[in-house]
Amino acid sequence: MTAHHSILLKNIRQPDQHTLAGAESRGAYSTIKKALQIDPLKVIEEVKTSGIRGRGGAGFPTGMKWSFVPRNSGKPVYLINNADESEPGTFKDRLLLENDPHLIIEGMLIAAWALQSNWSCIYIRGEYGYPFSRAKKAIEEAYAKGYLGKNIFGSNFNHDMVIHRGAGAYICGEESALMESLEGKKGQPRMKPPFPAVSGLYQCPTVINNVETLANMPFIIENGGKAFLSIGVEKSSGTKLVSASGHINKPGVYEIDMGYPMKRFIEEECGGIWQGRKLKAVIPGGSSVNIMTAPEIEKVNMDYESLRLAGSSLGCAGFMVLDETTDMVEAVLNLAHFYAHESCGQCTPCREGGHWIEKIFTRISRGQGLPGDIPLIENVCAQIGGHTICAFGDTMILPYLSIIKKFPEEFKERIGEAIRGQVKPREYLNVVYDGAH
Ligand code: SF4
Repeated sequence: MTAHHSILLKNIRQPDQHTLAGAESRGAYSTIKKALQIDPLKVIEEVKTSGIRGRGGAGFPTGMKWSFVPRNSGKPVYLINNADESEPGTFKDRLLLENDPHLIIEGMLIAAWALQSNWSCIYIRGEYGYPFSRAKKAIEEAYAKGYLGKNIFGSNFNHDMVIHRGAGAYICGEESALMESLEGKKGQPRMKPPFPAVSGLYQCPTVINNVETLANMPFIIENGGKAFLSIGVEKSSGTKLVSASGHINKPGVYEIDMGYPMKRFIEEECGGIWQGRKLKAVIPGGSSVNIMTAPEIEKVNMDYESLRLAGSSLGCAGFMVLDETTDMVEAVLNLAHFYAHESCGQCTPCREGGHWIEKIFTRISRGQGLPGDIPLIENVCAQIGGHTICAFGDTMILPYLSIIKKFPEEFKERIGEAIRGQVKPREYLNVVYDGAH
């Protein structure tokens, strides 16, 4: 039995937690009531003390991000909740949006008070129809009860909140593309600087936080930043929601204390590898990180620093487990299809390079690989990394390069078969691509 703190999922199984009445019966909105009596700058200090880092993938300290917002700029301050959860392997925010939307709204209100923002938006991915309807209903309930709108809880604080559905582009999870999309333009990333805290939505100061980050705010303000800091490990405080999927017995969303051993997580929480097979590899942070082999995860812990030191990343903890039967050529091809499709097209290296890589992996998969294909992929990746407007290009190449580096024999074997004319039909295991793009 493992004891983890339960900050975010403690009420998730309550069948009426998505309703205002259900959530209020378990304490929802009691913390914002108190927070409105605290100086906004002190709220920011408390968040800084907690050490919480952004849960969307980058892991930037949240309190620091909030403190970058200029006070008295004469412009409105906007708060955006990034619910464009599109990273392959990630589905943790969805659980909160569907089952505890008032926790998210309360967290947003606390952030809004700290930032003195009178307008916020939940930007939710277009495919999330059910989470959208749940969160929208929750906003309507909060308005009806006076928790949103004018003079909230008898204070002089006014706050309006909207929910906006994206149109299904992965890149709109990138914060500047998200703002372009909200402004009604094509969802393409902006050059930085300026950074959103200074010039974001409609060139006004804007803070963009992930759903999970904001959902932690009621706990931090209710219990104090030090209580949050005491959970987890140094430089990675609190708990982390993990979306666990792939070849495990118990896929699902888990809340673990930061710093938890990865091997133990697979064996205990995830119930081990399915069908009694052996572990081959893990993609720990969503697909845009370096893959880790079974020996590499033996002693690694699940927190920002440990995974960085181990050569990968916690990212948004889209934790994908691959068993010994996984065909790595097909696995990486699946990712290549995804990234080639989702490039926004602004930068030539990302737009063209992504498609070239997809074509090369496709021919290797089909038994038409050429002897120079692996060096060619490495060369194209080198032309993409560091040469693009946003991090999409930099991170897309991580799974490509790490998979071909860590499983070279599978690529050599497939290319070798092609050269010898020995290509056999492949059994497509768990990675199926329908070619629909
Ligand atoms: Fe668009 Fe790719 Fe350039 Fe990012 S790196 S701006 S996704 S083309």
